[in-house]
Amino acid sequence: MAEHELPSLAPGQCPACGAPGVMTVFNGTLPLASGTRTVGVSNLRGEQCAICEEVFLDCDSQSRFLAVADDLVLQAGNSIG
Ligand SMILES: [Zn+2]
Repeated sequence: MAEHELPSLAPGQCPACGAPGVMTVFNGTLPLASGTRTVGVSNLRGEQCAICEEVFLDCDSQSRFLAVADDLVLQAGNSIG
């Protein structure tokens, strides 16, 4: 296997599918599913690929999204055991 590092990306190039010049501004709500529950995390900002629709959140939005995800996992864990 070759190295796992991503090749350097051109401006606006999607890190997921590699299409160039496709990144658009993302500003909205993403669904977050954990077990049987799905919650929406709102006021997220970042970039979204117009081709594969992958969303790449800003650092701030990313950490907020992950915090909600952690919370859901904790709640799921508590309800199970
Ligand atoms: Zn893409």
